[in-house]
Amino acid sequence: MTDICSLSLTAVANALQKKEISALETTQACLNRIEATEPKIAAMLLVNNENALQRARSLDAAGPDPALPLWGVPVTVKDALSTKGIVTTAASRILEGYTPFFDAFAVEKLHKAGAVLLGKTNLDEFAMGSTTENSAYQTTRNPRDTTKTPGGSSGGSAASVTAGQCFASLGSDTGGSIRQPAALCGCVGIKPTYGRVSRYGLIAYGSSLDQIGPLARTVEDCACVLRVIAGHDPRDATSALLSVEDYAAGLDKNALKGVRLGMPKEFFNNEGLSAEVRLACEDALKTARNLGVELVEVRLPHTEAAIATYYIIAMAEASSNLARFDGIRYGKRANSTKDLAELYECSRSEGFGQEVKRRIMLGTYVLSAGYYDAYYRKAAQVRRLLRDEYLTALAACDALCAPVSPITAWQLGSHTTDPLRMYLMDAFTLSLNLAGLPGLSLPVGLGKESNMPVGMQLIGNAFDEARLIALAHALEQNLPDVGRPAL
Ligand code: GLN
Repeated sequence: MTDICSLSLTAVANALQKKEISALETTQACLNRIEATEPKIAAMLLVNNENALQRARSLDAAGPDPALPLWGVPVTVKDALSTKGIVTTAASRILEGYTPFFDAFAVEKLHKAGAVLLGKTNLDEFAMGSTTENSAYQTTRNPRDTTKTPGGSSGGSAASVTAGQCFASLGSDTGGSIRQPAALCGCVGIKPTYGRVSRYGLIAYGSSLDQIGPLARTVEDCACVLRVIAGHDPRDATSALLSVEDYAAGLDKNALKGVRLGMPKEFFNNEGLSAEVRLACEDALKTARNLGVELVEVRLPHTEAAIATYYIIAMAEASSNLARFDGIRYGKRANSTKDLAELYECSRSEGFGQEVKRRIMLGTYVLSAGYYDAYYRKAAQVRRLLRDEYLTALAACDALCAPVSPITAWQLGSHTTDPLRMYLMDAFTLSLNLAGLPGLSLPVGLGKESNMPVGMQLIGNAFDEARLIALAHALEQNLPDVGRPAL
């Protein structure tokens, strides 16, 4: 019998609908895979064995339903998304044992589409980081080389998808946290347009930047999940009032003919870009050209300012969002404190990790009366410039392409002592969040030196996810497969 876990989501969903396999046997196969691989990769913060099996049994009892695109499909969800009755920690001590009484909108949508939730994936605490090493609980490892990082902050989701523990996972992306781990692990990830997926129930990091999106092993699989979770939700005031397209319909391997793809000079001429990532992207673009793509150079002149701009805005918003975790309204309360001030102080000191504290302090600083104009206001102005530059570049072509991470997955522990060096790793992803635009990360090959996956982004106009998916799918059909990890 074929290994169920090696199938694509699309294939498994089909087989389930046709009753070739049952929801129970599919769920059990994933749980077995989790059991076999978790000791090596530590992608999951919580595995929901009993609930998942129970859910699968009741789905089987009711029988397949063609109206439910994820009927019986096992998925995992980043632990920054609230799950009703299931502990949700955002990988922080301060939320240890916290059990939400509601589902995030995107999680609710997965349930309604028939999915089976296997459990919650690891992340950097409150999604702050690029390696999943900032989790208060465990460090996730890259399934393709367990001495290396899976990326972050949705590293648990990327690792769980890549290791075949599930068919898709939900992540969140504030400055690259879906696209970068997808690139470093070698799976597909989509950061939708800001407003495309409701943030209701997502534990906030930077609210004007955060977006929930899918990670899966193929573009078509991601498209299928995106269609399920996208759409308007009155409980998120920034949720777009737009109808949702069937992103997986009509995918065609010839979709690249006559497409104009912009290459931002500032990304490809960036001195931080490693030779092997550049080469893998260039090879993919050569393939694209052979398939009828016209490559044009575009400019994004303020790219250099994006990292500083992002970190000012993200930290400012984080400091404000995290104020609610005070041991009273939210979060674990410190014991035996003598007064209210000490209660706040101890609860927050004990509950938050080092990186989160650093960001709260920097965020509070840039918002303080004396510095607001110099930092926050200036960052907001540059943000606008960056967005305008993207829109100008996109007016001249159908989509843009860019590397995702300047280097392939690096050794665990190698960047942790230098936060600034870590922030530089986000150079190619975070300006997209500042602009609110959609981005898709596609594995385009293995690095010549490291033999680890390289991801390339396709970037589009607001709400143009369908086009990005169509282009990425066509490219994917013509690129070498990055293969499966031998775990
Ligand atoms: N690495 C970036 C940060 O630390 C992005 C994280 C994210 O997208 N959640 O802020």
